[in-house]
Parts: sequence; C-alpha cells; structure tokens
Amino acid sequence: MQIEEQIPLAPYTTLRIGGPARFFCHAATPEELLDAVAFARKRHVGIFVLGGGSNLLVSDAGFDGLVIHLQFNGPIVFIPDGDAVLCDVDAGTPWNDFVQEVCAVGLGGVECLAGIPGLTGGTPVQNVGAYGQEVAQTIVRVTVLDLETLHFEELGSEHCGFAYRTSIFNTTHRGRYIVTSVRFRLTPGARPNLTYADLKRHFGDDQPTLVETYDAVRQIRRSKGMLLVDEEPDSRSAGSFFKNPVVPLAALSAIAERLNMTEEAIPNWPAGGGRTKLPAAWLLDQAGFHRGYEMGHAGISSRHTLALINRTGLATCADICQLRDAIVAEVAARFGIQLEQEPVYLR
Ligand SMILES: Cc1cc2nc3c(=O)[nH]c(=O)nc-3n(C[C@H](O)[C@H](O)[C@H](O)COP(=O)(O)OP(=O)(O)OC[C@H]3O[C@@H](n4cnc5c(N)ncnc54)[C@H](O)[C@@H]3O)c2cc1C
Repeated sequence: MQIEEQIPLAPYTTLRIGGPARFFCHAATPEELLDAVAFARKRHVGIFVLGGGSNLLVSDAGFDGLVIHLQFNGPIVFIPDGDAVLCDVDAGTPWNDFVQEVCAVGLGGVECLAGIPGLTGGTPVQNVGAYGQEVAQTIVRVTVLDLETLHFEELGSEHCGFAYRTSIFNTTHRGRYIVTSVRFRLTPGARPNLTYADLKRHFGDDQPTLVETYDAVRQIRRSKGMLLVDEEPDSRSAGSFFKNPVVPLAALSAIAERLNMTEEAIPNWPAGGGRTKLPAAWLLDQAGFHRGYEMGHAGISSRHTLALINRTGLATCADICQLRDAIVAEVAARFGIQLEQEPVYLR
C-alpha cells in the first residue's frame, strides 16, 4: 500500500471542490486498511474515509490527516435465505452497479434507489433514501472495522440507529467505524415500490418490472439534474444540500402568517410526536432562492432547488459556504427555521 502526500481532493468529489489531503492512500483489502490505520496512528494524524465523494464538501485548505479511499470491490455474493436472498456487497462497490445488477436478476427492495452516486459503504452512513425507499429497509447487517478495538465486527441493522438521513455512523459513533461490507435482504419476484408520486405519475396504470422502475427512476433523476452526467454543471453538486427540517406543528401557523396563506396550503408531511417535516426546497423558494440562482461561481441547480452547484467549475468551498450561509440566514430570518446541511464538511 502506497501513501501519497498532498493529493488534491477536488477530483475525488462530485462538487469538484477541495484542497489537498496531507496523506492519501487507496485500501482494497482488510490488510491494507489496517496498514493505513497504523500509519495514521504512528504519525498522530486523523483519518477520513472517502467513498465516492458524493456527499462531501471539502474545505479549500484540505485535510491535515490521512484520507483512505476505500476500494474493496469483490463480486456480490448471493445467499438464498427462505423466501428472500441475502446479498453481501463490498463497501467499494459503486452503489448503482449493485442496484442495476439486483434489478436485472429480479430482486426487489432497492429499485427506487437507482442513480444515487457513491459507493455501497457510504449508503448506511446517512441511510440513503429516495423515491419511497431507504437502505434501512433492506440492510440486515453492516461489517465494520472498529477503530477502537481494531477488530472487524458485524453490526445488526438494529444497532445502526437508522432514521431519516442518519445512523450511528454519522451521529453518536461518527468516526469510530469503517464500513467494509453491507448485507442486504432482497425479495425475489417482488413488485416494484411505486408509492412515490413521481413514479405513480410515470407509470399510471401500468405494472412495471424492476428493471423498468430502475430505468424510470434514473430518467426522473436526470430530468431533475440529480443524476451524475459528465460536464453538466447541474450535476457538479453533492445532491440535496439541506435536509428537510422537522419542526413542531406550531411552526406552520407562523409560516402561514408570514406568507399570508392558510396552514393547509403549506406542503408538509406529519412526522409524529406533534412534529411535521417541511420540504426544504419549498422554504428556499419562498425565501427567494430559486432554481438557477447565481452567486459568483456557485449557484443553485437549474433543475433542483436543493442542489447547490459548482456552477462554473471554478467555485471554491468558500463560494459554496457563502451561498449556503446566505440561504440559511434568510430562511431563519423569515421562518425561524434553522436549515441543516446534508453533505459532510471535511476540513
Ligand atoms: C447528484 C446527487 C444525487 C444524490 N441523491 C441522493 C439521494 O437521492 N438520496 C440520498 O440519500 N443521497 C443522495 N446523494 C448523496 C450521496 O450520493 C449519498 O449520501 C451517498 O451514499 C454517499 O456515498 P459516497 O460513497 O459518495 O460517500 P462520501 O461522499 O465519500 O462520504 C460521505 C460520508 O460517509 C463516510 N463514508 C463513506 N464511505 C464510508 C465507509 N465505507 N465507512 C465509513 N464511513 C464512510 C465519509 O467518511 C463521509 O463522512 C446524492 C448526491 C449527488 C451528488
């Protein structure tokens, strides 16, 4: 395993932004991963695990530690399990490759997650979800390297603390575990999940196959600039930049008053416990941040209000942060709601 120095991180991110890593290596086997960790400990520097860089904002100064680019990428192992099939997937497997392969062999459970960039090891971290599915619904267990014990361990799904865009990996146990493989439980011959409005509209009364659903999700994503397409400025993003805020129901009346509208006209989804989830994209629109908004080299995607983009390809992290801060301040001033950034900030 080779450790390199001062490696620019921008090319490893979908935003194409970020300064250098002081140390950088690829790890393709458990031994290489352990060697990398030993190196960082010897040098007394921090570790950052890099997947596909699709949920990442790297500072212009870069990272003063070791970036480990995970490349575990063996073939998917299929294990029959009663009326289901278990799929063991290495952390370095590109997520969409996995989704495409299982749809092609008729295994249902992740078809709505087609087109999400990044690697499989990144999916449990923020419990990726889209179009009516999230990985928490099909993950059985996650194999990790525990950086406290330096042992490889298996964490059952019930120990992963999955919730909306969170898990123990990005909250209570951030930085403790490196995911090396994920086991999913998928259903042979399953009917595709068509609960999401966009998919219902797309298919009408038709009964699509899993592959047709996979294709439709990618098509819908592309129309929203949420599919990575080379050289398209709208896809130089880190996906949705803000989480949908979950607020007390009482917040609705304040917003309604502010916008001079009825509470019923505010889009929201009940979240239980007297709380409701508001679409962050709607809040941005109401605060004057529309699709195609420009601020220097940064901007908002012309097809998706929630995607902040490196508009010209020349944006820095500071440019993105300036736009982010302007949006957060305006939404807070108008509605008293504090937006939370979704991509991980590496600095
Ligand atoms: C165009 C676009 C569309 C997107 N659409 C969606 C969407 O619909 N739904 C959604 O949920 N997300 C979406 N995302 C966000 C992103 O693709 C996912 O969060 C993805 O799972 C991140 O994986 P990654 O490999 O790129 O992780 P990275 O960006 O490399 O890393 C993100 C975080 O996960 C950690 N991490 C990565 N791999 C591991 C590992 N093996 N072990 C431990 N920690 C690890 C990193 O340290 C970092 O903290 C989108 C992004 C883009 C650019």
